[in-house]
Amino acid sequence: MAGNITFTMIKPDAVEANNIGPILAMINKAGFRILAMKYMRLTKAQAGQFYEVHKERPFYGELTEYMSSGPIVAAVLVKDNAVADYRKLIGATDPSKADEGTIRKLFAKSIAANAVHGSDSDENANIEADFFFSKLERF
Ligand code: UDP
Ligand code: MG
Repeated sequence: MAGNITFTMIKPDAVEANNIGPILAMINKAGFRILAMKYMRLTKAQAGQFYEVHKERPFYGELTEYMSSGPIVAAVLVKDNAVADYRKLIGATDPSKADEGTIRKLFAKSIAANAVHGSDSDENANIEADFFFSKLERF
């Protein structure tokens, strides 16, 4: 059975461009409910821990530098089929390949500064939600 939560971040480029509001509006309009949310800045070490799976990739250093370069919004979203439906709403990793009307097509600046994160599986959605939020922070 498909899980009903996913984890997202509004990344530093989208925060800097004042796009928190429009992105949250798209998330709500697509039928997601917010279970948890915070506005914060990651250290480089925390960004490195979050993206540990990409440690061996050539873009890892740049990615962790970028993800700690400014504040982000972290959130847990609830909806039936949350992981797949959210990946569809955000679009492809590379915004030049993202479908029209997706969050990344509308707001991403580049493949690195691509506006939002979205979990890629139910297992990772739970791992990522637990990385940012305690039980006391979920409603
Ligand atoms: N990324 C990058 N260069 C690449 C691929 C990915 O800078 O060639 C960054 C980008 O910010 C992406 C993140 O690394 O969102 C994680 O990569 P992943 O393949 O998991 O893409 P996502 O799941 O975010 O679509
Ligand atoms: Mg990913």
